[in-house]
Amino acid sequence: MTKAFGAVTEHTPLVALDIERREPGAHDVAIDIAYCGVCHSDLHQARGEWAGTLYPCVPGHEIVGRVSAVGSEVTAFKVGDTVGVGCMVDSCQHCSACDEGLEQYCDDGFIGTYNGATADAPGHTQGGYSQAIVVNDKFVLKVSHPAEQLAAVAPLLCAGITTWSPLRHWKVGPGQKVGVVGIGGLGHMGVKLAHALGAHVVAFTTSDSKREAALALGADEVVVSRNPDEMNAHANSFDFILNTVAASHDLDAFTALLKRDGTMTLVGVPEHPHPSPNVGALIFRRRTIAGSLIGGIAETQEMLDFCAEKGIVADIELIDIHDINEAFDRMQRSDVKYRFVIDNATLNA
Ligand code: NAP
Ligand code: ZN
Repeated sequence: MTKAFGAVTEHTPLVALDIERREPGAHDVAIDIAYCGVCHSDLHQARGEWAGTLYPCVPGHEIVGRVSAVGSEVTAFKVGDTVGVGCMVDSCQHCSACDEGLEQYCDDGFIGTYNGATADAPGHTQGGYSQAIVVNDKFVLKVSHPAEQLAAVAPLLCAGITTWSPLRHWKVGPGQKVGVVGIGGLGHMGVKLAHALGAHVVAFTTSDSKREAALALGADEVVVSRNPDEMNAHANSFDFILNTVAASHDLDAFTALLKRDGTMTLVGVPEHPHPSPNVGALIFRRRTIAGSLIGGIAETQEMLDFCAEKGIVADIELIDIHDINEAFDRMQRSDVKYRFVIDNATLNA
């Protein structure tokens, strides 16, 4: 049995659970989980804010830990290696998306680290709020950061790749003005990564209290988006905006800030839809609103290696698993700088 924490219904807090992990098959890697980040998606899923949550739901897809066993066909990993697992644990591995290293866009749908279809008990995958996990070797990442940074590496596995992938796809770099909207778990990584890629970064926050902190993360400017004068000062000036907000909000306030041919990419998946965007604001400057989903495995490894080389990690608050429900409530209130990470050793208590 593996100790875990999860939700049994959408209306009840997360509680201690015992779950089963399969014996490692030929291509599997068994991992003792050291730390797991707390993504807003975990909250959406566990609390039934998205349709289709399967209970019991053990969330967690920002996993780092050490390899405890490998299957007979595994060559890339050995016992004792420091590794990561992100949002996916499998995909068809033969469609055009998988062939291009875009497993997140697999034609059959990727298998999520939690709430995904699996032959393992109880019929859906269970995530990283647990002592251990068994994952197909193609979906395991190498972590080369120093051991003392491991807890702060965990959020790179979702918050890091979900911001890195669109920044790379839309070719963010020197000479560009880039906005990051919502300075939470994803947004704070977006600021750090866009800064490291050489862009001029403007952080948009609803929280006046994050003004100084966003500059420290690497933003060149900070705009409190509730202040229309501050917003208007940036009209028609952005090449790219990455919008990470976890709640429904007025998109027009941000599309109006894009230059001609500029793009705003949405990564937030709010419980309720955004109000329909103003078509005029799009067609008169040929602006684009786009979306982006996590990132592929090769791209995740590229991001982890880039971050290790540049010394980039998340800014975290380490928590005991027994404080997870309070952490969810605080995340809901945007009261976290900037990512809660579970110390999975506290599952043993
Ligand atoms: P988070 O840590 O809670 O951060 C979201 C931030 O959005 C908050 O810190 C807050 O920033 C801002 N915000 C919250 N409510 C707002 C409101 N009503 N109006 C304006 N701004 C608001 O969440 P996260 O973990 O970064 O995740 C963000 C979203 O991305 C979630 O919906 C999550 O499910 C989704 N997600 C998507 C993908 C993907 O692949 N596309 C991957 C992971 C997560 P300020 O205080 O700065 O305003
Ligand atoms: Zn996530």
